[in-house]
Amino acid sequence: MTRTGVTSKHDWDLIVVGGGIVGCAAALYAARMGMACLIVERDMIGSAQSGRNLGFVRQQARDFRELPLMIAATRLWEGLEAELGRSIGWHQGGNVSLAMSEVELASRREWQYRGSGEFGLDTRMLSAVETYNLLPHLTPDSGIVGAMYTPSDGRAEPARATRAIFEAALQLGASVSLGTGVSRIDVSAGQVTGVWIGGTLHRARTVAVAAGAGSAALLRRVGLDLPQERIRATVARTARRPERMPQCVSGPTTGIRQDADGAFVISVAGGEYDVRPDSWRHMRWYAATRRENPEAAKINYLAPLQRLWPHRGQAPLADIPPSRDRLRPESQRAEQARQEFGRLFPAFAEVPLQTIWAGEIDTLPDVVPAIGPVSGVEGLLVATGFSGHGFGPGPMAGCVLANLAAGRDAGVDLTGLSPDRFRGGAPR
Ligand SMILES: Cc1cc2nc3c(=O)[nH]c(=O)nc-3n(C[C@H](O)[C@H](O)[C@H](O)COP(=O)(O)OP(=O)(O)OC[C@H]3O[C@@H](n4cnc5c(N)ncnc54)[C@H](O)[C@@H]3O)c2cc1C
Repeated sequence: MTRTGVTSKHDWDLIVVGGGIVGCAAALYAARMGMACLIVERDMIGSAQSGRNLGFVRQQARDFRELPLMIAATRLWEGLEAELGRSIGWHQGGNVSLAMSEVELASRREWQYRGSGEFGLDTRMLSAVETYNLLPHLTPDSGIVGAMYTPSDGRAEPARATRAIFEAALQLGASVSLGTGVSRIDVSAGQVTGVWIGGTLHRARTVAVAAGAGSAALLRRVGLDLPQERIRATVARTARRPERMPQCVSGPTTGIRQDADGAFVISVAGGEYDVRPDSWRHMRWYAATRRENPEAAKINYLAPLQRLWPHRGQAPLADIPPSRDRLRPESQRAEQARQEFGRLFPAFAEVPLQTIWAGEIDTLPDVVPAIGPVSGVEGLLVATGFSGHGFGPGPMAGCVLANLAAGRDAGVDLTGLSPDRFRGGAPR
């Protein structure tokens, strides 16, 4: 049943704020456990990050704090198409992370040692020759010295997967309210009572905030001040090709995935950190990251002014849900990414870009998500701040929310991911 304009009389076991992959998965697993669940999405399902990302489902090179979540997510992805009864472009072709220098190779080796040793992953190091054998289209002039390779990593079609999870949740009895966002989480005597949508209180035993870049604003009003920032990132897609590249490739500055139709989807290096009023408050949190990696995102001080003048945004894309945010993709950087792709894979150097689009990454200073209960507010759960790599863990993050809402164990080790870790202020 799809329900818009629900009344305040109805009690929900769980209200999920946000119809991205995390919120939809939370609703799916909650509905499967028999909970009465409502998804509230201010825009369209998958219209933010979940429908616009690169589509890597990658375990390798993750922060070890989020690796248990990602390993559990991979198990879910492996069975997801069968569970949903439809294709979501899932392909477990592995992820290859190219090393361009001995220093890069050493750091990948260090990760591989722990990832395979302590976490039991199938990650292994490849020599340059082994890498060329695995990637026959990679130019012998690429300059690589080796690579890290995880065969159990995969890829999926972002918008299709998010939509399929959403529809499966509806089929199991979850409901949805579309088009108007949650303006406020309602809390009484330290206990969540529900959420406000368009002037109406919708009551719930548990509220789970999975609102991506919209999470911090909601949480701040109930006492959790997450230093969440937004980085505008661009993705480019080429024309289709008949050749097949089963692996996702992490190149020197771009990620490359072939989609289910044969087009190559390429991430564009860096991003734009569009300055907002909150940016000044959060500056100290990000000082260390900026010092260590000044190229990670370009600070766009003009953003407040740019918001005042209209731009065309992107042309509507049939397979990506439209967003009212009209984010501006970076066409010059997209062309640079296409050139890097062509330099590494000369067979595809002449393949034209067909389209580019942007998405807004919700990031936290330590670039791992905040997942779990919020202390001091009974019944309030959070899964946000995936910092540009939450599509892969998304289904399991949703499952964790559903488990916690049902009063069960999270189902995965969340040590180091608590939303409370930012209490106490920024490091000086
Ligand atoms: C360009 C780009 C490339 C990426 N590439 C990858 C990749 O290859 N692999 C990977 O694992 N991850 C990748 N990511 C990150 C990944 O897309 C996100 O981490 C993941 O989709 C987050 O899912 P989510 O459900 O938490 O948030 P979102 O998908 O952002 O969904 C949150 C939803 O909440 C809604 N919302 C916000 N505020 C409110 C409110 N007040 N009331 C109601 N609804 C609200 C929004 O409209 C939105 O639909 C990429 C991201 C981008 C932008």
